[in-house]
Amino acid sequence: MKTKLCLLYGGKSAEHQVSLQTAKAVIGALDLNKFDIHPIFISTDGAWIKGSQLEGPVSDVKELQFSEGEAIAPNALTASVEGSDGYDMIFPLLHGPNGEDGTVQGMLELLNLPYVGNGVLASSAGMDKVIMKNLFAQAGIPQVGYTWFIRSSWESDREAAYKQVEEEIGYPCFVKPANLGSSVGISKCTSRDELEAAFEEAFQFDRKIIIEEGVIAREIELGVLGNDHPECSVAGEIVPKKDFYDYKAKYEDGDTALIIPAEVDEELYARLKDIAIRSFKALDCSGLVRADFFVTKDGRIFMNEVNTMPGFTPFSMFPLLWKHTGIDYPSLIAKLVELGAERHKEKQ
Ligand code: ATP
Ligand code: MG
Ligand code: MG
Ligand code: MG
Repeated sequence: MKTKLCLLYGGKSAEHQVSLQTAKAVIGALDLNKFDIHPIFISTDGAWIKGSQLEGPVSDVKELQFSEGEAIAPNALTASVEGSDGYDMIFPLLHGPNGEDGTVQGMLELLNLPYVGNGVLASSAGMDKVIMKNLFAQAGIPQVGYTWFIRSSWESDREAAYKQVEEEIGYPCFVKPANLGSSVGISKCTSRDELEAAFEEAFQFDRKIIIEEGVIAREIELGVLGNDHPECSVAGEIVPKKDFYDYKAKYEDGDTALIIPAEVDEELYARLKDIAIRSFKALDCSGLVRADFFVTKDGRIFMNEVNTMPGFTPFSMFPLLWKHTGIDYPSLIAKLVELGAERHKEKQ
């Protein structure tokens, strides 16, 4: 029996394009002897458009952006029962708000549909950098200093907000929308002028922003895979050619070096692994996360964030980390489907 796999991709977030690339790659890697592929494209204005079953890989993401096709209500998805056209497994290939943040996961829970990746709580806690960091702090996970604001409090007294950042965090600092990814809306600030501009920018994307101490450090990432007994990949390092790993460096310039495996000694790797697993558990994750760290020259480790649906093209860090650990891209997809099924079964 083939698995009827429904791919959800596109979406309303600023990471729409990234999601399309992921969908194209996943489709190209799926074993058609094992999976029937059913695509659902979510447009930038949030419409869900169901395409016909795919017979094989597509050569261009345009083929996945159905303008025609059946528009469906998201809650019209159904589970596969004999003779129906429902699904055995849903794979949300969505990044950012309305996909990686627990909203889609909540809907799938209501429909009692098995799905790949993190559940509602981990997804939403991992999407909100403030909540994530608060949970990490409670679990004793090392992090840089941070503070946060909601738009209305900033609007009521901007000067007080900037002063608070200067007193509590200082320069350089990073200003980020609380709920996003792919470095969208993030700025590094070294002065009051830059701080003011950074607040304006970040608040364009979210009603809540976080400000963090800037550190000079290596950026090391680990993949975590599993449910109750998660395992870690080898470590990878990101070496941005510019000031920091911003959106352009991630997706446009392509001149950021990914070093896999990263040069880390055994002792450092063991500490990273321990923190990655503790972070996974602190948010009650399941399926997968990519754990992003800062490691300073003098060997201090700061957990930056976990991503509950990390970049997932074959050239993205998470799949490359697993490839070097011995799980290639098609096997990784199959493993994630298995983990999703396992978790679904445990809940029944
Ligand atoms: P993604 O989800 O794509 O990994 P993101 O939007 O969640 O990214 P972060 O990982 O928090 O954003 O930050 C993006 C980049 O900005 C980091 O990879 C790093 O280069 C830089 N950066 C972020 N925070 C800091 C910090 N506190 N100190 C130094 N550099 C930072
Ligand atoms: Mg992130
Ligand atoms: Mg992300
Ligand atoms: Mg990151």
